[in-house]
Amino acid sequence: MKIACIGGGVAALYFAIAMKRRQPAAAIDIFERDSADRNSGWGIILREPMLEAMRRMDEASHAAILARAVSWDQIEIRHKGEVNLLSNQFGRSTGRHALVEVLRARAVELGCRIHYSSPASAADLAGGYQLLVGSDGIKSGCREQIGAAAPIVRVQSANRFIWLGCDKAFDRMVFDFQQTTHGPVWVHAYPFSADKSTFVVECAQQTFDGFGFGRRALSADLARLEGIFASLLGDASLTSLSDAPHEWRQFEQIRCDALHHEQMVLIGDAAHTAHFSIGSGTRLAVEDAIALADSLHQGGALPEALARYQRQRSEAVDSIQQQALHSMQWFDRIIEHYSLPLAAFSRAFLFRSLGQAA
Ligand SMILES: Cc1cc2nc3c(=O)[nH]c(=O)nc-3n(C[C@H](O)[C@H](O)[C@H](O)COP(=O)(O)OP(=O)(O)OC[C@H]3O[C@@H](n4cnc5c(N)ncnc54)[C@H](O)[C@@H]3O)c2cc1C
Repeated sequence: MKIACIGGGVAALYFAIAMKRRQPAAAIDIFERDSADRNSGWGIILREPMLEAMRRMDEASHAAILARAVSWDQIEIRHKGEVNLLSNQFGRSTGRHALVEVLRARAVELGCRIHYSSPASAADLAGGYQLLVGSDGIKSGCREQIGAAAPIVRVQSANRFIWLGCDKAFDRMVFDFQQTTHGPVWVHAYPFSADKSTFVVECAQQTFDGFGFGRRALSADLARLEGIFASLLGDASLTSLSDAPHEWRQFEQIRCDALHHEQMVLIGDAAHTAHFSIGSGTRLAVEDAIALADSLHQGGALPEALARYQRQRSEAVDSIQQQALHSMQWFDRIIEHYSLPLAAFSRAFLFRSLGQAA
């Protein structure tokens, strides 16, 4: 079977690996818009169910990913000058760049071809391939094509966030809620290598406007954030992927009722997104990739295989998206929980994805 992936992120790369493991004769071309050296993110959390599914599918890439991962076993919640340290909270993460590097090397080793600096569309590729995999991420053009056949549901967070790096490796996962004159500003931070951490800052729109964030070169906003989180950062500094104010974003949770149409199928963020606060977008992407490869391998006509993939993924994705939505909405309504004492605030925070009231 000749397959083209439109977009070369984790979803496409893992699909290519899984498909080659199941069907070594499959011919897979991956078209990636960006050049090979572009870094598009900081660290990501590696969920254990995802790692276990990866181990079962391909031990070589699983071992290479673990070799580049770091772990922690505590979560620290900082709120109104107090600290709650929770033990036995195991987590693991790696650099997004490191993960992509490992998967690219493995996909090429298995015989896939990756075309960098190659933006692609279904219209360009349709004639040359039997299957087009829409793996072009959160701003997917492939999704819009399938959307003509079934509804796409979008829920936007009211908050603003920015995904930053920090040149210090925390030894645990930290959530630091700072009260400022313009309202709360908080960070989700965790290490992803021996000397770096992910630092995702979030605040309400009103707070964002109060500080004038997003209206000037980003370096000025970073200096302000370094001041707000000085007690956590010490002399460490924050780094962004670019100096453009558009690095500040509002998260959009997206769900597509249909994952395939004619010869096109969606995987990863193109198919569905999950708020970053539950760290599961990559897990969904990898599980989609495995489910699609397995379904194609089971055989039958292509429409049948794609329908089977959609049926299989719907329930699992619904459950994670529900948790992600509860978590996103908890942060959107953070002011309702803010005056709670630390223990009650921590409890509400930890159970936020279940949708329980504080
Ligand atoms: C702040 C933040 C923190 C996160 N933290 C975590 C976490 O801790 N754990 C976790 O599991 N997930 C996390 N995620 C989510 C995770 O990053 C995504 O879910 C995951 O990257 C999805 O993979 P993907 O391959 O579907 O999309 P992407 O990684 O976005 O890849 C899509 C690729 O397609 C390319 N592309 C786009 N259009 C075209 C085109 N027309 N032609 C060719 N190429 C194209 C893009 O350049 C890109 O390389 C986080 C996300 C955010 C925003």
